Amino acid sequence: MKAVYYNHDYEPYAIQRDRTMKDFLTGKGISSFSFKDQCYFEKLEVCKKDGNPYTVYTPYKNAWLERFTLQPKENFPSEHLLNNLYPVPQSSIALDKLGFLDAVVSFPSKKVDTALFKNYGDTRDYPERMGTSRLGVHLRFGTISIRKLIYHVEPLNATFLNELIWRDFYMMILSNFPHVVGKSFKPAYDQIQWINDAYHTQAWKEGNTGYPLVDAGMRELLETGYMHNRVRMVVASFFTKHLLADWRIGEAWFAKHLLDFELSSNNGGWQWAAGSGCDAAPYFRVFNPVLQQEKFDKSMHYIKTWIPEFGTPDYPIPIVEHEFARKRAIETYKKYLS
Ligand SMILES: Cc1cc2nc3c(=O)[nH]c(=O)nc-3n(C[C@H](O)[C@H](O)[C@H](O)COP(=O)(O)OP(=O)(O)OC[C@H]3O[C@@H](n4cnc5c(N)ncnc54)[C@H](O)[C@@H]3O)c2cc1C
Repeated sequence: MKAVYYNHDYEPYAIQRDRTMKDFLTGKGISSFSFKDQCYFEKLEVCKKDGNPYTVYTPYKNAWLERFTLQPKENFPSEHLLNNLYPVPQSSIALDKLGFLDAVVSFPSKKVDTALFKNYGDTRDYPERMGTSRLGVHLRFGTISIRKLIYHVEPLNATFLNELIWRDFYMMILSNFPHVVGKSFKPAYDQIQWINDAYHTQAWKEGNTGYPLVDAGMRELLETGYMHNRVRMVVASFFTKHLLADWRIGEAWFAKHLLDFELSSNNGGWQWAAGSGCDAAPYFRVFNPVLQQEKFDKSMHYIKTWIPEFGTPDYPIPIVEHEFARKRAIETYKKYLS
């Protein structure tokens, strides 16, 4: 083996792992080279004028777009180099020996209709419609290139591009503020004493809270390894605000079950919902899961898909009353943050 080539990873465990491997390879006299590949702009490539990282999305996005427009588009055709790769030895360990199992759920297609990208702004918020790309899992495992996707969608839809910039934003936050793994971005939020009621947490995990949109989302996650973004926001808000449960427990549950799990976006999404993150929803804004369902799943197609017993006596009554829970969340947050 002449050299090892790998891509940058921004997760603390991966950084440590790559450092250990690099030292090991150096010790064996093997060169190693690493490159940016997981995101479009990394680390401090897009930063404030004083060189510090952004912590608020909108100015970051504006600076990202400015740099994107000015910088020539790069392509790295490498297909003709594939024969240079070190062949996988016959004796290499089989994946099942490493603990990997065949997936029982279907893998979303890499091909997305141009119409979906074009209509994305109008359809993306409605879980009953197939209005989002389902490309998260491909981006997560590198089976599509983020650069290629950005070049493809940029002329088609600014809203879709925004979402890809959110992904870069959260990777940038993770690499510049690694304390977000396990701790609140805003330290004051670590003062909050969460209730962490075991019965409520279990009901949430299994999709038995009595709030149909929350339950449909949690069941979709368990059955498919996917959950629609709008529903992710609602279930995360419900967990942290209505149940006053520690966002790290919800984050870990998502990490275990989401096929598109990415530490940076998952952590960013959870801290956004809990209010503890950079550029988070203010704590006094609490999603009403009933109104969210009336607005985004009016036909109830989504909830009926995932809750077969919906509308029968078998479906549970709400485990907390909305108005009580909303007031309790606001008072609790106020108490620990003031
Ligand atoms: C609590 C919570 C946890 C989340 N956990 C993850 C996670 O582990 N992995 C993950 O990739 N996304 C996560 N997201 C962001 C978002 O929900 C998913 O990226 C999206 O639902 C994936 O479905 P899609 O591929 O159809 O997305 P589309 O709507 O088609 O968007 C295209 C791509 O843009 C990116 N994207 C979209 N929205 C966001 C966002 N808000 N933040 C960052 N990137 C975004 C994703 O790469 C996505 O695949 C989370 C959001 C919340 C609120």
